[in-house]
Amino acid sequence: MKNELYIQNSLTRQKELFKPITEGFIGMYVCGPTVYSDVHIGNCRTFVSFDVIYRYLKYIGYQIRYVRNITDVGHLTDEGEDKMSKGAKLAKLEPMEVAQRYTVGFHDMMRIFNTLPPDIEPRATGHIIEQIEMVQQIIDNGLAYERNGSVYFDTIKFAKEQEVYGKLSGRKIDDLFSETRDLKNQGEKNHPSDFAIWMKASEDHILRWNSPWSVGFPGWHLECSAMSTKYLGKTFDIHGGGNDLKFPHHENEVAQNHGACGCHPANYWIHTNMLEMNGRKMSKSDGNTITPAQLFSGNSPHITKAYSPMIVKFFMLQAHYGSTLDITDKGLQDAEKGYQRLMEANALLQKMENTNSDVTSDLDTEINATIEKAFQQMSDDFNTPMALARLFELVPKINGLLAGHLSMDEINSSTLEKLKTVFHDFIYDIFGLLDMTAGGNGNGVAEGLMELIIDLRQNARTNKDWGTSDKIRDTLQELKIQLKDGKEGTTWSKN
Ligand code: AMP
Ligand code: ZN
Repeated sequence: MKNELYIQNSLTRQKELFKPITEGFIGMYVCGPTVYSDVHIGNCRTFVSFDVIYRYLKYIGYQIRYVRNITDVGHLTDEGEDKMSKGAKLAKLEPMEVAQRYTVGFHDMMRIFNTLPPDIEPRATGHIIEQIEMVQQIIDNGLAYERNGSVYFDTIKFAKEQEVYGKLSGRKIDDLFSETRDLKNQGEKNHPSDFAIWMKASEDHILRWNSPWSVGFPGWHLECSAMSTKYLGKTFDIHGGGNDLKFPHHENEVAQNHGACGCHPANYWIHTNMLEMNGRKMSKSDGNTITPAQLFSGNSPHITKAYSPMIVKFFMLQAHYGSTLDITDKGLQDAEKGYQRLMEANALLQKMENTNSDVTSDLDTEINATIEKAFQQMSDDFNTPMALARLFELVPKINGLLAGHLSMDEINSSTLEKLKTVFHDFIYDIFGLLDMTAGGNGNGVAEGLMELIIDLRQNARTNKDWGTSDKIRDTLQELKIQLKDGKEGTTWSKN
């Protein structure tokens, strides 16, 4: 392991030295997307953040099992309707068709951002048996009760028996209960804060399974408890998600795990912060929103030009995952310049001839110290902006050596080799960036990315979003990439 690793643990609200349950191994569970609509750029930020965490944990030598689920049942909208059925009814599609469409779209977007796939990607609908078993365990342990075919978690009893409820989300139990003492939400529950772990399906509810209590479907929080336990054990190392999931989703997940297994699910909880736009929460209703396709095509009143996926990713890496990030046109423009500078410096560095020098100079010492600091800062709660800042401290050194302002005799051959390796490893292995600059070859993925961009344009055309589809074509033309629509689909060529 390169350095001791510190993680900001949301459970204790402290930065803690990371100690895995089993030396050398890590189990990590991250809440995945609800596949009833297109993934938005905020979701992408969260998954990019966990991708960098996953990559870094691997890089420093851990063997890691990364589980990220697909929520394809049970996530209720504010109106109390299952998001999957709602999407399906509106579009007159089978729920599985909706789930499949948006799962494919999500995977495409994750590929566009060059994130690694998780090791296991379980679907909630594929784990109904495990969820039913967990409901039964919670009932057997006296922490859930049945009402008219639905099963509710008994939060009052749980809070009285164990001082756990409210700890993760930092809510005082009295506040929590007065907050939810909303009688109109009580219905058949003992208390408004109790939550459904199994719901009896109404006549017109499409997603339904047999269970000992009714024909129904599991509550949203249950899937993550059941699937993390199945693939990572009753207690595992890291649980992640966006911080909007802390309550009720993660708080209730903790309650369920205690209720079924009698223990806490994860030792470290990592919560990513939200992506905002122009200083405000992104919101579809007041137009303060931008889609990934709009970012890549430039077709939005919020931006002045198109930004490639790697620039958007670089922009995300310039903020710590735990801070809010405000997406602005100016911020993206700066990110574009920063990305170009880093990639160009790296391309030149990799071509530098070795020195065969074994000197020990101030320059040499400084370069080694900066490299060391970059790793220390990555190991300090995955601080990507600080690690990037260290790389940018090294860029003038690289340029100085190339321009002759700094003497090659002052750099030890092993330091130069190390510098090359560190730049390569940070850029490609840890940050997962691709070289999409004019001189770069995209690391062999340009073909794949072009296919995805063509897919995005095709989707825009299917949705009659002519603005986006034209903008994609025009932007590609500016890059001297021609699209040809033919009978066998769209092909591309570069002039
Ligand atoms: P969902 O599909 O709504 O369950 O969200 C998938 C993931 O994206 C969750 O971990 C959310 O916390 C996260 N997320 C949702 N909105 C944002 C946002 N604006 N910025 C960052 N992450 C978000
Ligand atoms: Zn979850």
